[in-house]
Amino acid sequence: MSDYVPRLDDITFILDHVAGLEEVSKLNGYQHADPETVAAILEEAGRFFSEVMAPLNQIGDRQGSVLTEEGTVRTPDGFKEAYRKYVEAGWAAAHMPEKWGGGGLPYTVGVVIEEMFKTANLAFSLCPTLTHGAVEALRTHGSEELQGTYLEKLVRGQWSGTMNLTEPEAGSDLGALRTRAVPQGDGTYRLFGTKIFITWGDQDLTENVIHFVLARLPDAAPGTRGISMFLVPKFIPDDMGNPGQRNDFKIVSLEHKLGIHASPTCVVSLGDAGEGALGWVVGEANEGMRNMFTMMNAARIGVGMEGVAIGERAYQRALRYARDRIQGRAIGASDTESVPIIEHPDVRRMLLTMKANVEAMRSLLYVTAAEADHHFHGETEEQRRLAGSRLALLTPIVKAWCTDVGVEMASLGVQVHGGAGYIEETGAAQYLRDSRIAPIYEGTNGIQAIDLVLRKLPLEDGAVVTALITEMTEVVIQMNHHPELAGFGDELSRAIRGLAESSTWLGERLASGDIQSALAGATPYLRQFGTVVGGWLMGKAALAALSAPPAVKPEFLAEKVITARFYGEQILPLANGLVSAVKGGADILENAVF
Ligand SMILES: Cc1cc2nc3c(=O)[nH]c(=O)nc-3n(C[C@H](O)[C@H](O)[C@H](O)COP(=O)(O)OP(=O)(O)OC[C@H]3O[C@@H](n4cnc5c(N)ncnc54)[C@H](O)[C@@H]3O)c2cc1C
Repeated sequence: MSDYVPRLDDITFILDHVAGLEEVSKLNGYQHADPETVAAILEEAGRFFSEVMAPLNQIGDRQGSVLTEEGTVRTPDGFKEAYRKYVEAGWAAAHMPEKWGGGGLPYTVGVVIEEMFKTANLAFSLCPTLTHGAVEALRTHGSEELQGTYLEKLVRGQWSGTMNLTEPEAGSDLGALRTRAVPQGDGTYRLFGTKIFITWGDQDLTENVIHFVLARLPDAAPGTRGISMFLVPKFIPDDMGNPGQRNDFKIVSLEHKLGIHASPTCVVSLGDAGEGALGWVVGEANEGMRNMFTMMNAARIGVGMEGVAIGERAYQRALRYARDRIQGRAIGASDTESVPIIEHPDVRRMLLTMKANVEAMRSLLYVTAAEADHHFHGETEEQRRLAGSRLALLTPIVKAWCTDVGVEMASLGVQVHGGAGYIEETGAAQYLRDSRIAPIYEGTNGIQAIDLVLRKLPLEDGAVVTALITEMTEVVIQMNHHPELAGFGDELSRAIRGLAESSTWLGERLASGDIQSALAGATPYLRQFGTVVGGWLMGKAALAALSAPPAVKPEFLAEKVITARFYGEQILPLANGLVSAVKGGADILENAVF
């Protein structure tokens, strides 16, 4: 049996009772995705990822992807065959647009399928994650001609997509990038430059790899205003649309790194042969950053999902180990009677911390995905606008909070194993190594926190944050009717007040122009925000469980209430401990001596 079994009970419960799948399925174009159909699809998906992808996780870690002498990437044993099955089964295209050969499922459902893939095999899953981002960019900004040539193949997973942004001198600040695009006078461009850290920049899974590259035109303005996005195929399609001549796009080397070994992280040279890599502009020239954000916003949610996924995988392994490992005596038991470590209160605390955090993060992920569906498919302009603002607010929180907590949960998973966790054979260490990249790429978590404070908090003069706080408070009111949730409700009420206090303080700093102080508090604010949002959603889940929805097993409902109470009574109170860090101002940081 696979060592990863998707927790479909929790997944479907959150979809149905926290994220509002039924409402999503009423949206235009999604009527076929009713909760019953979705549950059946997810069961099938769970089986696939557990049986086909999960067994390759450790193999991928040990073998890694390698660069061959021919300059192409060879993936670990079994990856090619598994990818073929993934595409044939339609999982690659499940939530992609029907118009281009996709399954047309809501994003809310696509997110669950992707979460399962990431939980089964994080490094492998990055290939389709980037392809999905490429599809979004091309669908939204590409010309009809480019769409006609590339979209269907990308949607079906026949070809893959990559994001080529980073350069040695341009990481968080993409405005510093130097890659040049020279117009050829016939609508095409030749690109010259070096890109680093390009995930799945090459592979042997698909017949072609389509790169989305940020570069500058000769007369471009400095900084981010002068960046354009180009589509650069590995093989230039011939007249029939099939992969033809090899482009001047060379994989120079693969990075040696801490984790996600199966994911080739490429150093790339464009124009190495002197000719220049042939490319086509996507969208308007000089609007590359704006267009790239279409890819990045989807990818940010995709990366946040990695925190959920790695936390779940680490939890499942730790739970199994804790049931099997005999060590120590239970309090009050005889001297000779050793017990499985799961009986010790401290081990139970670690396991419950992992479980509760994963469920809170999963709830945030699905709720955010549902906002995306309402934003793109909502019936009225007003519904689409409201969902779009909420989506914008929650995106940096999904990315940064889920990935920070994901790393902590992977670390806790190692701790549950004791010394065995530190030994590679156990597998727990791989999750910790794999998890560590997620807070870094797709905009570091520090950059996400800045986005939250400088761009999202001021949205509509603070009304977007205020509306969320009001909605959270309504959950507290409902919790007051349930004596078993009294403690949780009090904590949630306190935590919401703390969040309002931090938000007001930061808003005042921004209004007075004291940006340094606002930025100094950005990271603790994001952590506080995520923790409180997690409390709100676990509160919603507990309320739903207490209303005993039919067709959900009573044992699961009781378990959900206990897990939610643990989050509310023991994790959530930590949020208010962050208020003083949020309001600490810039003084201490500015005067720090290093
Ligand atoms: C395994 C891996 C895969 C990757 N995949 C891709 C990919 O597919 N495509 C791609 O284009 N890139 C990719 N990247 C690059 C990744 O997105 C960058 O590493 C990331 O954006 C950070 O840039 P940097 O490494 O230059 O760090 P820097 O920008 O140098 O940042 C260093 C530190 O300074 C902080 N910092 C920087 N600027 C500020 C600021 N203004 N305010 C506050 N703090 C700041 C950062 O938060 C960070 O803590 C990948 C990286 C890795 C390691």
